[in-house]
Amino acid sequence: MPPPDRTSISSRVISDVRFTFLGTGTSAGIPAIGCDCAVCTSQDPRDRRLRTSSLLEFTDAKGQARAVLIDAGPDLREQALRHGMKRLDAILFTHNHVDHTWGLDEVRRFNAIQDGPIDVYADAHTDAHLRRVYTHIFDRDRNVNDSFVATLIGHRVEPGRAFTVHGLRVTPIPLLHGKLPVLGYRLEAEGGDEDERDSTRRAAESRGGRRSPRSATEAHGEELGIGGDAEEVGARARNASEAVGNDGKADAVGSGSGSSGGPLPLAYCTDVSAVPPESWGMLKGLETLVLDALRDRRHPTHLTVDQALGIAERVDARRTYFVHMSHDLGHAETMARLEASGHAARAGLAHDGLTLKASGNRGAGK
Ligand SMILES: [Zn+2]
Ligand SMILES: [Zn+2]
Ligand SMILES: [Zn+2]
Repeated sequence: MPPPDRTSISSRVISDVRFTFLGTGTSAGIPAIGCDCAVCTSQDPRDRRLRTSSLLEFTDAKGQARAVLIDAGPDLREQALRHGMKRLDAILFTHNHVDHTWGLDEVRRFNAIQDGPIDVYADAHTDAHLRRVYTHIFDRDRNVNDSFVATLIGHRVEPGRAFTVHGLRVTPIPLLHGKLPVLGYRLEAEGGDEDERDSTRRAAESRGGRRSPRSATEAHGEELGIGGDAEEVGARARNASEAVGNDGKADAVGSGSGSSGGPLPLAYCTDVSAVPPESWGMLKGLETLVLDALRDRRHPTHLTVDQALGIAERVDARRTYFVHMSHDLGHAETMARLEASGHAARAGLAHDGLTLKASGNRGAGK
């Protein structure tokens, strides 16, 4: 039997991949309660940030729609309503902090809709936290009444040991959040997304230019991409399409690069202050890097914008999106600053409701 064609396998396993930033704010959320600062009182919808969480949606090999949530924070109910979520197959937890875990109770609605359990992936430390906080879910036989609680299937994961969720290959990446070991996640199609990305690049190059601008209309009004060469910024700003959800305004940088392959491979690295040596190899060949960037002042458990830019440069993903921002970072001002320093073509702030997806081929190279 001939060896399988890895590229065709990867494109067959999952398709129609969409990645949505459900929340991009730090633990207090923006606006912060009782704060009158410029960002907390901003009228720019991109300055309103729910707690950091994201959703990856795709169609599996059997044609079934799938949805994988990264973290279930205290804003999950509002995020699910805003995004119109109708199903949830799995949750990947990055760590045990409240702003990433205290929405788990809400997922019982998806159990009811789907009439089935939800797979939950966490390392041993986070798993123990979830079982302690949510005893009414994980130890339901002890509940006094037979109440409506979530039905979950717990899975322990280990750094560096990949697993598969409905054709999505997931690799837990060890990261440091101050002294706390936490997980990032590398997400890609099962069967070798490296090949897919390479073929996407080759196709983009053959269409004339390594990062030719993609038509904004082709982005279905959803992706506010980051990418392309500096001289394209003006054109992209003029063509930039709106983000999904609460926005209606274009980013300073417009729709992104000539890539048509979608957001994968993607690494999700929120709540990080340092990347251990063994993790850099898991961050190679990325289309998308999602990375912590709390503020400009140093913080013991989060990255500053400058530190995040340094990591982004070394990782060299096609596009880097920052998350977990505090009210020190206004969206428009920070993006203008990144543009002035020449970083905005490859890296910038995400905002709530932003969706990344394949752009199709029509717009590329035109
Ligand atoms: Zn956090
Ligand atoms: Zn504020
Ligand atoms: Zn945290």
